Amino acid sequence: MDLTNLKARELIAGYKNRDFSVEEVVKTYIDKIEEKDKDINAYVTVCAEEALERAKSVDKKFQDREEMGILSGVPLSLKDNIAVKGVKMTCSSKMLENFIPSYDSVISERIKKSDGIILGKANMDEFAMGASTKTSYFGPSKNPLNRDLVPGGSSGGSAAALAAGECALSVGSDTGGSTRQPASFCGLVGIKPTYGSIPRYGMATLANTFDQAGSLGRDVEDAHLLLKALVGRSQLDATSVGNDSILKEIDYSSGEEAVEFLKDLRIVIPKLYMDLELDPTVKDQYEKAIDLFEKNGAKIEVVPMDSLKYVIETYYILTNGEIAPNMARFDGLRYGHRTDKYENYEEMFRKSRAEGFGDEVKRRIMIGTHILSLEFAKDYYYKALKVRNKIKTEMEEALKKDGMILCPTSPILPPKIDQDISPVEMYKADLFTVPANIAGCPSMSIPMPLVDGLSVGMELTAGRFKDHEMIKAALGFERSVK
Ligand code: GLN
Repeated sequence: MDLTNLKARELIAGYKNRDFSVEEVVKTYIDKIEEKDKDINAYVTVCAEEALERAKSVDKKFQDREEMGILSGVPLSLKDNIAVKGVKMTCSSKMLENFIPSYDSVISERIKKSDGIILGKANMDEFAMGASTKTSYFGPSKNPLNRDLVPGGSSGGSAAALAAGECALSVGSDTGGSTRQPASFCGLVGIKPTYGSIPRYGMATLANTFDQAGSLGRDVEDAHLLLKALVGRSQLDATSVGNDSILKEIDYSSGEEAVEFLKDLRIVIPKLYMDLELDPTVKDQYEKAIDLFEKNGAKIEVVPMDSLKYVIETYYILTNGEIAPNMARFDGLRYGHRTDKYENYEEMFRKSRAEGFGDEVKRRIMIGTHILSLEFAKDYYYKALKVRNKIKTEMEEALKKDGMILCPTSPILPPKIDQDISPVEMYKADLFTVPANIAGCPSMSIPMPLVDGLSVGMELTAGRFKDHEMIKAALGFERSVK
């Protein structure tokens, strides 16, 4: 039996049964990373020694029949923008190539408390700006389903590690789709909960009002398990919220009968999405998904939602407006890379930043600075804030009474790694994922069965704090697809 094929919950059951030890499983994972990751490039840092140490102590807890945390002995990876005390955290940028945080993020603290085992830090687009991992300073990760293709991004290393069997669960972050889109490209489930559900303390900020950590698993139950370990308010993040909806039980033992969960669901299809020119495979899968919901008793409603036309512009204006000031802390003095030769401080800042940041980061800092400037703020930033409100209101209206938006997670299939795509073309592909971040809603991607070896994910987005309803519907859908 290849232990790396087991789901997280199957590992936990196996430990309880004494079928294998945590140490055995962690060793197998480390060997697999050793063997495969030179090619997949999913990890920036592997913590083999620490992981084995922890495995031993979790084994001992099992032996002593202590009370176990909900991730007991599950080997997982964390996106490299999430701080783990004493472990390098690069955000896949030269700027932070040698940065070692002196404290744990709330996320890693909760993983440790739940007895999860951190195998390492996963590759990503630089500072989470991108959708392919191609902006990583450490080079792109490969999609394990087809190594010529990107795994998606920005949490592409997380998805690649999980799909390659190099971890059993992974934590990503999602500012505009970065957990859901790579899940969709790699045949996984990716959940972004309601904004604030997972405290952001210790997760490098991209755009504060959009950022939310997300969980990646090989199926709905696994992704939900990880989420349960991470949610809950923390005093360290004033924007964090309690969200009991994620902790509500779902009957995963129900097998095929879970398709019943789809009965009488209100599924919203934005009219705009019907008229879009999508990749033919994606369109075909979308139609299949709608049919499946309908066949199992869901009610399909086509709703105009005209403001969704403006999501890309709104998202990129507002996030760049938040990104530019957030990136100011990386100046070679407080944090990060410092240039070797400089005459004065002014030059030190300028050269350190010029050397430390990649093109995409620089592009966004420049756009953000421009649109926030006195002269342009009213034409761009303030206008986009108003449009954000309009989109939010329209989504709240469409999602009330437990409605859920169904759409593909990405309008395109994973592009080839060596394919040249302009930044604007890449931005446009975020069309389906950014609305949930604009409105703070929970949203998740569930894979359809592979088509010619490729994965197409379907996305469900629910009203705020309706995470439970969304995950339950996703389970019903997952079981109906099989
Ligand atoms: N692709 C989007 C962007 O580049 C999403 C990034 C994210 O969610 N971190 O901004």
